[in-house]
Amino acid sequence: MFEEVWDGIFKIEIPLPKNPLKYINSYIVKSKEISLIIDTGLRNELSSSVLANGLRQLEVDLNRSAFFITHMHADHCGLLGELSSDSSTLYFSKEDESFITGSLDWYRFWEQTRLFAEQHGFPRQLSHQAILKHPGYLFSTKDRPKGRVVNVESGYKITVGKYTFECIKTPGHTRGHTCLYEKNNKILFSGDHVLYDITPNISSGYENKNPLGAYLKSLENIEKLDVEVVFPGHRNSFKDLQKRINQLKKHHKDRLDEVVGILEDSPKNAYEVAVLMSWDIDCDRFEDYPVAQKWFAHSEALAHLFWLYEQGKITKFKKDGVYIFEI
Ligand SMILES: [Zn+2]
Repeated sequence: MFEEVWDGIFKIEIPLPKNPLKYINSYIVKSKEISLIIDTGLRNELSSSVLANGLRQLEVDLNRSAFFITHMHADHCGLLGELSSDSSTLYFSKEDESFITGSLDWYRFWEQTRLFAEQHGFPRQLSHQAILKHPGYLFSTKDRPKGRVVNVESGYKITVGKYTFECIKTPGHTRGHTCLYEKNNKILFSGDHVLYDITPNISSGYENKNPLGAYLKSLENIEKLDVEVVFPGHRNSFKDLQKRINQLKKHHKDRLDEVVGILEDSPKNAYEVAVLMSWDIDCDRFEDYPVAQKWFAHSEALAHLFWLYEQGKITKFKKDGVYIFEI
């Protein structure tokens, strides 16, 4: 049910059915006084029972627990409402707070998100459906988390037993994404900032317009760290952080080159670019992709287009209410 990944630090793998990420890692740092729970899993029955079983076996007292949420995505914070109590301390960034606590005006947020996608070429006949299938729509926190919120910034320290974790803000994957670094043990909890087996999703949206610029800069925030083992939010832990960062930089450089190549023939909107990009998915034609995958492909294409635009490498103009990008 759980695995001890470091002295007194445990990992519980929480399944993500029908999701290519397979599962999300929740890490539990145990000490006599308090346990720190890093990320929680989705708000559904399976995730809830897997995490609850793991915590029971580890004899974690939820009344003496604190929570650190790396970022606001539903697979990382969905169970916070269920697990937290008035005595909990909740650590996360200010930028991601309204999503995590559910204090956001959701109706307005999804409307703006849909309009933003449509203005960037996402087909109007698919946009409602795409949002209804979006994990953020399906699994967001419904019951508000309880306890004391601490908005962390880079340099903020959280002590649990013999460990002192330092927060490092790493915007990109979300605006407020935050990693946790333990200097003495040289371990890094990287959330979805750096994953080993898969490339973190960098998506442009209404609330996060140029995420790739932020992301590439945030890779530099952690590449100088002395790290022995990285514990990511999904899949396997790994050792060579520097090598992985170089691979991720190369991946985005290749993607940017691909997007420029696609625009060389003719100006296009972000959806038309997404259709022509190569995607690692078990499906031959873009039109056959599940609507959620079309949505993510479109947001990723847009992230690369915005970066090129911010760098002055491409321009954009509006035609019939839709932005077209041009070299
Ligand atoms: Zn995420």
